[in-house]
Amino acid sequence: MKRSLLIKPMMNDMYPTATHGDGIYLYDDTGKRYIDGSSGAVTASIGHRVPEIIEAMHEQAKKISFVYRSQFTSEPAEKLARKLNELVDANQDYWSFFVNSGSEATETAMKIAIQHWQEQGDFRKHKILSRWVSYHGITLGALSMSGHVKRRERFVPLLEDFPSVSPPYCYRCPFKQIYPDCQLFCANELETAITRIGAEHIAAFIAEPIIGAAGGVIVPPKGYYQQLLDICERNNILFIADEVMTGIGRTGKMLGMDHWGIKPDIIALGKGMSAGYTAIAASLASEKVMKPILLGSGSIMSGHTYSANPQSAAVALAVLEYIETNRLVEKVEESGVYLLQKLQELKNRVDIIGDVRGKGLMIGVEFVADHKTKQPFSAKADITSKVVEKARDKGLLIYPASAGNEGVNGDAVIISPPFVITKPEMDQLVDIFKETLLEVQHDLS
Ligand code: PMP
Repeated sequence: MKRSLLIKPMMNDMYPTATHGDGIYLYDDTGKRYIDGSSGAVTASIGHRVPEIIEAMHEQAKKISFVYRSQFTSEPAEKLARKLNELVDANQDYWSFFVNSGSEATETAMKIAIQHWQEQGDFRKHKILSRWVSYHGITLGALSMSGHVKRRERFVPLLEDFPSVSPPYCYRCPFKQIYPDCQLFCANELETAITRIGAEHIAAFIAEPIIGAAGGVIVPPKGYYQQLLDICERNNILFIADEVMTGIGRTGKMLGMDHWGIKPDIIALGKGMSAGYTAIAASLASEKVMKPILLGSGSIMSGHTYSANPQSAAVALAVLEYIETNRLVEKVEESGVYLLQKLQELKNRVDIIGDVRGKGLMIGVEFVADHKTKQPFSAKADITSKVVEKARDKGLLIYPASAGNEGVNGDAVIISPPFVITKPEMDQLVDIFKETLLEVQHDLS
């Protein structure tokens, strides 16, 4: 047999070959069925092989798949921008700039923020502050904003030193405090960082509403974002919400920031925006951000060949309409409460579970070697991989994440099934997950 020439995340691993999907299930070429318990990378939010989306793909392909954005606009791209505005905030205009991945969406957000200040004659504001324990993407600009040591280390000489504050991680508080007595040390740290760096050098602060891959789903405490926003506003710093993972219903609200009533200046969307049916993402900029740009050079200094291509736009539009018509965001809110409770119940039965947390259908499970002391497993034990692989063997796909502050190795997984999952299917997911964890725990002892 000829060797595979496809570069994969782990070249020595035997990947199953996917053949097709249906609803929350995926199938491989041996006929094995998997529950898509993570929607891939928290992406396939409406499930697989949805007829309405396939129909929309065909219809658009029959008309036109590609036009170049500097030669034409198109009906699907215009409608998609309008629909996103409606869904994100009916009370003010957000402008959409389309790209092809979450990394490009956050990197474009960074460029929009810098350009916003330049158009007003301020060329010094070019830094984007962020948190240690964050992931904003893999391209060099996006990686510069990411507080993810493992992903940064090979490229450090090429990166900007942007991450500057600690995460709002109550389970392992970086300041050894307890909420609410802490008075939000973690949010106030931004003020200290701004004083150190100088507000005159800072264009924006970027944050995932709920930290995903880098933190194993970290939900900040009440008051945190309001405090951050106040600090940004007082210092003339834009606020970018990286909603690539949390956006478009994943947490039971349209945007993750809706849980705290925050309206960001710039929003990065990806993943669930097309639910995996096509590669499209977006940076959305508020009227306040766009105004000096429109009055100045007139547009954003960025763009990709495939930006706003009508084929992808039509598919994303169909996904958004499907979510709206089927009231899937409300369904996520309801299912999320059920699944979170079922997973929290496991904490009493499985010793290696340290914490279960999340909102909607974005739930993180953090593993610990010692329940009481919260002692993490050693990096060598590689618990996350063991859990993910064993679950896969049993027909359940879950998403590996990390958890922990700087210097703390932490193991976690994300459970984030498609929005259409039913109660019996959630029960089945939890049963397989429990069996997996008990076996991993048994193997360890
Ligand atoms: N931001 C966040 C919050 C993400 O979770 C991800 C992907 N995991 C990205 C950005 C990067 O998106 P992409 O992989 O599509 O480039």
